[in-house]
Amino acid sequence: MGDPSEATYDLAAAGDDAVRLARELVRRDSTNHGGGEGDERAAAEFAAEALTDAGLTPQILEPAHRRSNVVARVPGTDPDAPALLVHAHLDVVPAHTENWSVPPFGGEIADCPVTGAPSLWGRGAVDMKHTVGMVTAVVRHWARTGLRPRRDIVLALVADEEDSAAFGADWLVREHAHLFEGCRVGIGERGGHTVHARTAAGRAVRLYPIAAAERGSAWLTLRARGTAGHGSRPPADNAVGALAAAVARIDAHRWPLHLTPVTRAAIDAVTAALEIERTPGDTDGDDAADALVARLDAAVPLVAPTVRNSATPTMLTAGYKVNVVPGEAVGGVDGRVLPGAEEAFARTMDALTGERVDWEYEHASPPVAAPLDSAVFRAMRSALVAHDPDAHVVPVCLAGGTDAKVFSRLGIDCYGFSPMRLPEGMDYPGLLHGVDERVPLEGLRSGVGVLDTFLRA
Ligand SMILES: [Zn+2]
Repeated sequence: MGDPSEATYDLAAAGDDAVRLARELVRRDSTNHGGGEGDERAAAEFAAEALTDAGLTPQILEPAHRRSNVVARVPGTDPDAPALLVHAHLDVVPAHTENWSVPPFGGEIADCPVTGAPSLWGRGAVDMKHTVGMVTAVVRHWARTGLRPRRDIVLALVADEEDSAAFGADWLVREHAHLFEGCRVGIGERGGHTVHARTAAGRAVRLYPIAAAERGSAWLTLRARGTAGHGSRPPADNAVGALAAAVARIDAHRWPLHLTPVTRAAIDAVTAALEIERTPGDTDGDDAADALVARLDAAVPLVAPTVRNSATPTMLTAGYKVNVVPGEAVGGVDGRVLPGAEEAFARTMDALTGERVDWEYEHASPPVAAPLDSAVFRAMRSALVAHDPDAHVVPVCLAGGTDAKVFSRLGIDCYGFSPMRLPEGMDYPGLLHGVDERVPLEGLRSGVGVLDTFLRA
């Protein structure tokens, strides 16, 4: 067992099953409108039925009407081995039908106009029903062929990832932590897919990012207070002016370089794979590091957003009539914080907002990081290389967040690993939450092979 070249079982059938499952999942509209408005029930019931067919006993857990989560445990052969969590989300972001060239919940299969690859089209095809389909297909493949993983595998197909996780991972972790007993490591979304890049000499290289860290979210509310009054007699402490000045300072701020171990490892892996010549001190200081990162070709988006914190002003509210000075002005800032940079972030916000403006966390989830020097990381790398001998694995930090943050609270080291071999020219990140979201069928089939190898390692 464990050798992907072993011809005693038929992975192609599992690949077809993954395509069928992902397609049926896309057809079950599980739009999350935010603010508690969502409905994952139909997708959850379909997934649970597919797992029941594999001899498992999945539970459907609902913290609210039709906000459905599915959890199932696949028993391993070695009861002493720590369990592995595989989490994926069932909900999708809204799709505005009029912008799409196909019905977003039709589950159509048609060629991609960019790559020519036969693809499954629909909302959630990439984010992330393909993963639910792949993982479920692997488990069903084991049931058909009598294969068993060594360790217990806990599948968590959750609701509400696209909003606050309050009806999904957050609720499961708070109310049903026992379901994840024994899990030390987990895999979830973002990572394991192909990023096509080129060396300076023009040679094609296939990179495979694996997420090993995530920046934390720090969503802030800024509040300025001042004297209210008539617009013709401007007060010295106008709240609108104070808030506007603070927001302008935040917008203009250049956050200092903060290279975490994962981002350093990413730079090392990409420069090695792309044969980019390094010079001593090329990551010392903002200008040097930015210049180096700018040379990373197609890997720039994997690295550039994670070399420093960020704070993006996104909301402004003040006033109700043009000749009335309001007593308060309120702003919103989307902050993202690297592992180890939380204190620096808070200090900087104090300084940027100044004395006239208060700020507080509207929502904060801390950054997370998992070890790179771990058996699981090595197993992910080996599984990718087993199926693509030219794979160059790149550990990365994610600019934003996933449910990994929530599951980390249980002491689980979480990695982003949803493997897929993708054709050149496919704008994978651009399709996330995008119009005409689609995933190549060959990607699904390849992912089934990699997951089968990894999950039984
Ligand atoms: Zn997602």
